[in-house]
Amino acid sequence: MRSEFDIIRQYFTRPVTRAALGVGDDAALISTTADKELVISVDTMVSGRHFYSDTAPRQLGHKALAVNLSDIAAMGAIPRWVTLALTLPKRLIEKNDTWLDEFATGFFALADSYQIELIGGDTTCGPLSISVQIIGEVEKGKALLRSGARPGDDIWISGQLGDAALALAHEQQHITLASDELIRCLTALHAPVARVELGRRLINLAHSAIDISDGLMADLTHILDCSNVSATIDIDEISCSHILRRYLPQPIAVSCLLTGGDDYELCFTAATRKQEEIENLSLQLAIPLTRIGTIRQGKGLTVMNSDGSVITLETRGYDHFRT
Ligand code: ADP
Ligand code: MG
Repeated sequence: MRSEFDIIRQYFTRPVTRAALGVGDDAALISTTADKELVISVDTMVSGRHFYSDTAPRQLGHKALAVNLSDIAAMGAIPRWVTLALTLPKRLIEKNDTWLDEFATGFFALADSYQIELIGGDTTCGPLSISVQIIGEVEKGKALLRSGARPGDDIWISGQLGDAALALAHEQQHITLASDELIRCLTALHAPVARVELGRRLINLAHSAIDISDGLMADLTHILDCSNVSATIDIDEISCSHILRRYLPQPIAVSCLLTGGDDYELCFTAATRKQEEIENLSLQLAIPLTRIGTIRQGKGLTVMNSDGSVITLETRGYDHFRT
């Protein structure tokens, strides 16, 4: 089976002349004024695929926007406007408007906190699906791209990885979490916090960035492919919660950490001499920033175990057609 990325590459990747950046990064760029670029991205969440049909609508409203904010964060941009395309099953609106009320409450609570305006969309009837298109702004030529990593760069991640995937592993009965652990991991799954301010502050500091939506290995590999470089990372350096740590080195916990996805943290690369500046930024923003490895020349991603052995996994992360 071809991956979603093969499909995008074969059918939908064309050179652009009027856009500053087309298919292949976390968002596209369009030059509008002499000093600014528009940053545009869209993400769809489908019931039964991205979330269970009984997920609380308030959480869906939040998450549908948060995952788009995360792409804006990965570009180092400021989110400004959104459009919302909703496909709603009749049963959700037949009884009363509670579902929509809750969905809108979750959506606008997050939108208002960033002063983002909802400026349009589309509403149709059918299986539940939520698409949000987001438009942001960035100083011209300053956006953080996947293609800027250089040999010698340190590789950094924000926050902690794996808890959202751990919650999903519990729901799918691959692991049994204690109830307090489950509550924490479900929060990571349903209420991700996009690193918008961090992304802004990484402009002029990071060489490349991506948000971790499909899993660290898959998303870091996008940086490597776009930048024509390779990388070595150290599993022991990857920051995770005490909950996930409790389940290491069980294979399910290792794969949640490395390939789980739904983290919505940033992975970025920067020159080694920027280490202190990045550590200060971490303190200022109260966001953990951890160095997990090094960019090198060549091809491929190597993940080292604490005993010096190389970790090999069957998948690198989530792919809609392969997984
Ligand atoms: P992300 O995980 O950051 O949201 P995706 O993995 O969904 O990014 O997409 C990778 C790149 O391919 C992005 O630049 C996206 O805009 C582009 N893309 C995805 N699907 C299509 C499509 N059907 N047509 C054109 N571009 C697409
Ligand atoms: Mg992204």
